[in-house]
Amino acid sequence: MEPISAPRRLAIHGGAPQRGSLLPYGRQEIDEEDRRAVEAVLGSSWLTTGPAVGAFEEAVCEFVGARFGVAVSSGTAGLHAVMAALGVGPGDEVIVPAMTFAATANSVLYVGARPVFADVDPDTLLLDPGSVEARLSPRTRAVVAVDYAGQACDYGALRAICGARGLALVTDGCHSLGARWDGVPIGQVADATVFSFHPVKAITTGEGGMVVTSQEGLAARLRRFRNHGIATDFRERARAGTWEYGMVELGYNYRLPDLACALGLSQLRKLPGWLERRRRIAAELDEALSGLGGLKPLACARPREHARHLYVVQLDLEVLSVGRREVFEALRAEGIGVNVHYLPVHLHPYYREQLGTGPGLCPAAEAAYERILSLPLFPAMSPRDVADVAEALAAVLGAYRG
Ligand SMILES: *Cc1c(COP(=O)(O)O)cnc(C)c1O
Repeated sequence: MEPISAPRRLAIHGGAPQRGSLLPYGRQEIDEEDRRAVEAVLGSSWLTTGPAVGAFEEAVCEFVGARFGVAVSSGTAGLHAVMAALGVGPGDEVIVPAMTFAATANSVLYVGARPVFADVDPDTLLLDPGSVEARLSPRTRAVVAVDYAGQACDYGALRAICGARGLALVTDGCHSLGARWDGVPIGQVADATVFSFHPVKAITTGEGGMVVTSQEGLAARLRRFRNHGIATDFRERARAGTWEYGMVELGYNYRLPDLACALGLSQLRKLPGWLERRRRIAAELDEALSGLGGLKPLACARPREHARHLYVVQLDLEVLSVGRREVFEALRAEGIGVNVHYLPVHLHPYYREQLGTGPGLCPAAEAAYERILSLPLFPAMSPRDVADVAEALAAVLGAYRG
């Protein structure tokens, strides 16, 4: 089927752009309720370590059905805290997918252990359980699954692999707050799950994150790690009528202030509606792009369970006369804020130099990297925005076909 719009001169070649202003790939939404929630904290006695922290932790736990929540200063801090709380350290290996944000693997390096990169499924870009099995060694302590783009990994297979060997299974759920696996909310599926509240994620606290778990001992270690490794917090000491405390391990200051938690609580109330919007917009994009040759969206078997953090397409480079870079630049010139998630972690200069990784280690992730584009997707996108994305893609792919 031919694109509806007749061939036109692309903006990158001097034509009129599809849009006057750039449509970003993601954007937060802050309303009056959010402002009032933060202002209320500003007027209270607790800017940090006050009642909003526990309230936010409880609300996220209730949303995902986990028992314990530990708010932290970022998703990255949460991943670091999980590695420490699991007791991962020097000499240990942790299996991570190649197709993720660098922080997933960096957290393993923070505790002195070695990240081992596993490949992803070429159609979903989710961690491939077969590749995980191939990377197991006597040193393997944990597997980190990344619900790339907001879609749950194959937890049936991953839980079987980890369960059989006593390995910890961690979800990097920075894309998947609100997603489900086989009906089970992300947050209940792994031993520990890490969420991020960076502005491009499902809800925001500015910077922030949370680890959820249903294991009490793990939650206690996470709390201690986020507070310098000190065994009690100051309110417990106040209740006990003592000033004494002991630092029992080397922890960090990874606390999330009340200001941020109040914003998070207010944002969380809107999350169910935003997830619906994201799913609807993704369906509209599916529909609008279905007639275009030259690309295909990632495979998704259960759209009702997908959190739709990112809308990723893979370019069909075999039918295009140019590569991803040219398509990216042409779309940016049209005012469509496309992005690329991600350069496989083992190809970053630091990893190549420090761990000796390089091309050939994870062929599916490397091949996907050459052809992926993240299209704009956020709850406030209008039907006009969706049409702009589809029309700009039709024009650009039309110009570069054959
Ligand atoms: C955003 C993100 C992180 C890091 O979260 P921050 O809150 O920015 O530290 C980690 N992993 C993945 C997959 C992410 O998308």
